[in-house]
Amino acid sequence: MAIDRSPRNRMPEQAPKLRAKNFDEVALGFSPEQAKAEASRCLQCKNAPCKSGCPVGVDIPEFLKAVQTGDFEGAGAVIGRANSLPAVCGRVCPQEEQCEKLCLRGRMDKPVAIGAVERFVGDFGLDKTPAPYDGPRTGKRAAVIGSGPSGLTVAAELAKNGVDVTIYEAFHRAGGVLVYGIPEFRLPKSLVRAEIDKLLRLGVTLMRNVVVGKTVLLDELTDRFDAVFIGSGAGLPMFMNLKGESYKGVISANEYLTRVNLMGAYRADSDTPVQRGRRVAVIGAGNVAMDAARTALRMGADSVTVVYRRGREEMPARAEEIHHAEEEGVRFELLAAPVEILGENGAAAGLLLRRTELSEPDASGRRRPVELAGSEFTIGADMVIVALGTSPNPLIKDSYPAIETTKKGTIVVDGRGMTSVDGVYAGGDAVTGAATVILAMGAGRKAAAAILERFKGQ
Ligand code: FAD
Ligand code: SF4
Repeated sequence: MAIDRSPRNRMPEQAPKLRAKNFDEVALGFSPEQAKAEASRCLQCKNAPCKSGCPVGVDIPEFLKAVQTGDFEGAGAVIGRANSLPAVCGRVCPQEEQCEKLCLRGRMDKPVAIGAVERFVGDFGLDKTPAPYDGPRTGKRAAVIGSGPSGLTVAAELAKNGVDVTIYEAFHRAGGVLVYGIPEFRLPKSLVRAEIDKLLRLGVTLMRNVVVGKTVLLDELTDRFDAVFIGSGAGLPMFMNLKGESYKGVISANEYLTRVNLMGAYRADSDTPVQRGRRVAVIGAGNVAMDAARTALRMGADSVTVVYRRGREEMPARAEEIHHAEEEGVRFELLAAPVEILGENGAAAGLLLRRTELSEPDASGRRRPVELAGSEFTIGADMVIVALGTSPNPLIKDSYPAIETTKKGTIVVDGRGMTSVDGVYAGGDAVTGAATVILAMGAGRKAAAAILERFKGQ
């Protein structure tokens, strides 16, 4: 078969100036022709290294082959064997660090745009209703705490195998970070809903507004169900304990994004209160910081500055997100450590920063920022968004101390995803600390397999 030498197809996008003022999706998606053309760039490698880069093991060459021939439904079926949220993953997975990083086509020119083609296939299948499970029932019942990617994956895998599943979700809407964290312009909520509805049609019951550890206790669930999965994420924001953190106008990125995304504060008809800063400073440089900065621009800020104590190369956000933020007009104050939040009349007015330089890499390979004495300077900011990471909420652990946790509050599990309590499993950010959608889904698949194995043995 002759090799297709065409260059990688570019994802069409809204122009930066236009999109910085609206919440519509930035990336517009491939047309069927573009998807087919991109899939045709795949070399169908025998060993397909791309597959080992996918944490849930999607058969990438097989789905690309189906796309190449225009069999989009068949491609969806291939992806669906391993990934129940393809429209989501096609948009938010860090493919450049996973499947695409290992793609052999990258040695010739550029890797196949696997994520963009997956997104196309996921979108194509959004209105295709899966047949509800009608095989034999196991007679077993499982409770899933949290409806983020890990919980949804466990629920889907168990429901597909004849288990009665009930999800308990603290919020009024299912999806976890997919609905409360990642903004509309990166991940439209209508498609998250459509993808979740498809899963729920497998026969999963969703109980919303139920906080496990408060509304119901974990031991009530272990009494009533044959297995429990904890997928409660890592939604507790960290602060630096800086002087001035309690000023009006200082907010965690999690709270800010929840108000704007989940509570719809970006819509003109919303009655959710949210501050609209004019000069906004965002502390941190991960995906959450980029989302908060780009959201603040769209909420009408005149200027948004990301403050980070390391350099560009060390920024943990996806390169694509940094690039998009920059194109939209977000400024970066790098090698600058926050010293104090300055205030006027109880409200934030600016940041006192100190220059840093990076040390030689330490034993962990990371270059530590060293603050330079006498290098203080200030920037103005009437709103300061703190995006310094999150940890698991201690609610479940506190109400059920038999669950072993680490010093950082993450839940300890064994190789099968089981906690220190027999029959109680956990996965996703609650176990790893803040990570990625696909790793949470991978943990969900692993735990579901272990739960099914356990049921078989009973
Ligand atoms: P979550 O998605 O956090 O879901 C946990 C759910 O459990 C929530 O719905 C919560 O309400 C519920 N819950 C918590 N406690 C209880 C309780 N006691 N009772 C009942 N329900 C409870 N990852 C990527 O791969 N790509 C990205 O681009 C990306 N961007 C991100 C941007 C932001 C702003 C954030 C915050 C994260 C981002 N991530 C990204 C990380 C990714 O979203 C998470 O790693 C992933 O969602 C973790 O899934 P999870 O199922 O473990 O938990
Ligand atoms: Fe196709 Fe790249 Fe995977 Fe090879 S490594 S099978 S070219 S996607």
